[in-house]
Amino acid sequence: MKLQNRIALITGGGRGIGRAIAHEFAREGADVVVAARTLQQVEVVAQEIAEKLQSRALPFTCDVSELASVEQLFTKVKNTFGRGPDIMVNNAGIAESAPLLKTDDALWRRHLEINLSGTFYCTRAALGEMVERGWGRIINIASIAGKTGAPYIAAYAASKHGVLGLTRSVALEVAVKGVTVNAICPGYVDTDMTTRGVEKITSKTGRTAEQALDSIKKMSPQNRLIDADEVAALALLLASHEGRGINGQAINVDGGSVLF
Ligand code: NDP
Repeated sequence: MKLQNRIALITGGGRGIGRAIAHEFAREGADVVVAARTLQQVEVVAQEIAEKLQSRALPFTCDVSELASVEQLFTKVKNTFGRGPDIMVNNAGIAESAPLLKTDDALWRRHLEINLSGTFYCTRAALGEMVERGWGRIINIASIAGKTGAPYIAAYAASKHGVLGLTRSVALEVAVKGVTVNAICPGYVDTDMTTRGVEKITSKTGRTAEQALDSIKKMSPQNRLIDADEVAALALLLASHEGRGINGQAINVDGGSVLF
């Protein structure tokens, strides 16, 4: 098992990509903490893991956009395990679309506060102990929208571009400390987030759900959605000993739609 004796903290672990990463890491022997705003969802994921695997899985509520909430989360992790996480997965995120002229301040702030500041708060809270211990992994779930733009997603793309800048800079700061910092950039993944995107296209264009989904699939040269497990498999490599040479990278899992 690749992650035995490791503690992994996964934000947005209540569904979708975060849930898949929690399962993958627990299968490899890590104790996992799954955190999100909806207690019921993180409880279900922790329960699923506890029933199937020997790893400890703990559900905590946290709003990553609130510094006090992140601090409480880290206090709970330390009280439970006696130390902070070895592996920090910054996965919590939102994606709402709007043309720029209809992007109000609240939508803009929500994206920056959850997707970017949340990643910053959790990274800062986790990093000190990782450096002291001489081992750590920060894995940021960004997006191909962190590398390129598209109509109607200015706030989302700006927040994810910010995540890549944060990733690259911190990676270089801690490169000699046994800590790696990387980002994963998925294309469209088969999760609730994409389902909500399909619903939005349907409501705005009058296309059927099937047509809307087809148009999303066609954005990938593979003409399909990515499975959350594919993202989790890369997260495992980055978290493992074998991934120790990968640092400061932003790796696409998108079927080849973005080639840089
Ligand atoms: P989901 O909407 O299925 O899950 C998002 C998770 O994040 C939920 O557990 C949600 O729980 C949590 N979350 C949202 N806001 C907060 C917050 N303020 N504090 C704590 N937790 C929060 O999305 P995905 O699994 O698809 O997405 C996960 C990550 O992957 C996101 O960062 C997303 O941007 C990124 N991504 C997704 C893609 C896709 O096509 N699905 C493509 C590229 C990147 P709750 O609402 O209960 O807090």
